Amino acid sequence: MDIKEYVATRKETIKEYIKGLDIKPHLIIVSINEDPASQAYVRGKLKDGEEVGANVELVKLPLETTQKQLLDYIEIYNKDESIHGIIVQMPLPKEIDEEQIKNSIDVRKDVDGFNILSSFHPCTPYGIIKYLEFNKIDFCSKNVVVVGRSNIVGKPMAKLLLERHCNVTVLHSRTKKEDMNYYLSHADIVVSAVGKKYLLEGYKFKKDAVLIDVGINRVDGKLYGDIPPSQDVKLQTPVPGGVGLLTRLTLLENLLEAYKNEI
Ligand code: NAD
Repeated sequence: MDIKEYVATRKETIKEYIKGLDIKPHLIIVSINEDPASQAYVRGKLKDGEEVGANVELVKLPLETTQKQLLDYIEIYNKDESIHGIIVQMPLPKEIDEEQIKNSIDVRKDVDGFNILSSFHPCTPYGIIKYLEFNKIDFCSKNVVVVGRSNIVGKPMAKLLLERHCNVTVLHSRTKKEDMNYYLSHADIVVSAVGKKYLLEGYKFKKDAVLIDVGINRVDGKLYGDIPPSQDVKLQTPVPGGVGLLTRLTLLENLLEAYKNEI
């Protein structure tokens, strides 16, 4: 099933479930930035909440907000039993320590899965795993290459794949081109999470490979992935309309789980 259809079906199930609830799942999104990409993501989350009937609330704080003030807000939301999920939208002003903020969110409400002890997996890698599992992609003993080693995508992706018995290789900014060539050409599954338009152009992939393109690269107002489209492979996720939708769906699913755990 393609991603759009898969996401629409899952959202419909969530909507039906929420319809029958007296108290709706309540998500707070705290945002302290003027970043256009970040604001577009927030609009997407508000729209998703509206679509499924969840109460998604945006709290926009001024750019001068201090670390202490933000921690105080989070403390209030942590204690408020009517709130089931909390997101602090990145990026934060550079004076604020992102790691401390991420780790201050109650692990039961950390639906982004950024807290090291969170009850949830980060939305992007977990959304990818669930989509591939739904499509009966076999993980056991497969050679998987993850390009990118960030804390929110690359590393948790590698961990989730290892837990499913893949042979995982993580490539990154210091990987040599000849090694990229070797690993990519032997991969059954490639997950690219770098953020460079068409970085993987010119590499050879196996004909039965699965290519998951996490990259979102805005060039002249248009969105591009890390991989050029229409590779000769078994499955390739599009950009836009691919992994981004899985991330948004997983956020709703995590919120629902946080809600169920709390109620
Ligand atoms: P990041 O900047 O934190 O990490 C990028 C990683 O790419 C780094 O680990 C770095 O080692 C690696 N890298 C850089 N240059 C490289 C090169 N030439 N060859 C190989 N590896 C290289 O980024 P991130 O937060 O992990 O996001 C990565 C991309 O995914 C971005 O485009 C971001 O917008 C996108 N993203 C999409 C979603 C989604 O839902 N679709 C979610 C999160 C991030």
